[in-house]
Amino acid sequence: MILVLGLALILWFGGRYMGVSRRALISVQIILFTAVLFFQATLPAGNPLKDATGGSLANWLILAALAAVFLGYRALLGQLRARHDAAQPEPAQPQGTFKPAELDRYARHIVLREVGGPGQKRLKQAKVLVVGAGGLGAPALQYLAAMGVGTIGVIDHDVVDSSNLQRQVIHTDARIGMPKVFSAEQAIKAQNPFVDVRPFNRKLDAEIARDLIDDFDLVLDGTDDPDTRYLVNETCVALGKPLISGAISQWEGQISLFDPANGAPCYTCVFPEAAADGLAPSCAEAGVVGALPGVVGSMMALEAIKSITGAGETLRGRMLIYDGLYGETRSISVKRRVDCATCGHLGQ
Ligand SMILES: [Zn+2]
Repeated sequence: MILVLGLALILWFGGRYMGVSRRALISVQIILFTAVLFFQATLPAGNPLKDATGGSLANWLILAALAAVFLGYRALLGQLRARHDAAQPEPAQPQGTFKPAELDRYARHIVLREVGGPGQKRLKQAKVLVVGAGGLGAPALQYLAAMGVGTIGVIDHDVVDSSNLQRQVIHTDARIGMPKVFSAEQAIKAQNPFVDVRPFNRKLDAEIARDLIDDFDLVLDGTDDPDTRYLVNETCVALGKPLISGAISQWEGQISLFDPANGAPCYTCVFPEAAADGLAPSCAEAGVVGALPGVVGSMMALEAIKSITGAGETLRGRMLIYDGLYGETRSISVKRRVDCATCGHLGQ
């Protein structure tokens, strides 16, 4: 019997050592033991081959029963383990990986040569702050969300007013009276549940500007309040964050990417002083055509995707001016000023 078991062990481990498949090795073992059982059952007592292979059929049957119990126990354990594993929740997704539903959602980006899978991953990892959930903030937020920017912050202290709805398309009639940031949050989540929205229902002031902006990689400013614009610009310059700034009035809009850390001017380089009262009337005083913020706010989102993915050429060092009344667009180059009060200290 020991001879047969020794032979079985040599065949098993020798086969393993030579890289023979598990299936083939099990087949060899089955053939060996079938042959032994055959000898035990058919050969007369005293036969040398029968003696050499154990001498008794009963011993082999007991051994086979023990082996069957052992293998059955192992199979049962394996099944229980598989059921336990299946009951465990899915492990948390590592950052920057996509679920199948997201791959479907962003398919038109992924086929774009300039964006592709790596660009879409950068969008998912990006953190963008939008200052103002009004005319320009509305389309910018909608497209940032639709495009799959992973974390979108929005700060505004206004509530939705019926006079906003002619152009601020992220808000709805039913949400009149609701803080704009929560109305925007609802719209974004309804459009793209894979986006993390961070609403800040308050005015951006000097007290929080630095801590807030420091949490984001890129800032989009579409407010119509000069003090806020200068504050956002100063903070972005101090923290070295790029700032996409848009502005509109009546039929005309302008947009640029301010980034003195990378050679482009800052907002103060181009607009050293706020326009005197009365020279830059607000939308409420001068009026603004409904689709214009859609054009400029969407351009802001488009500059954001280029800035994040590195596609094409951004408006860094250029200002694009769009005249909606005559359907004309022109782009002017804008330069840093060494005597700029905000970014002059950075040097050329
Ligand atoms: Zn400057």
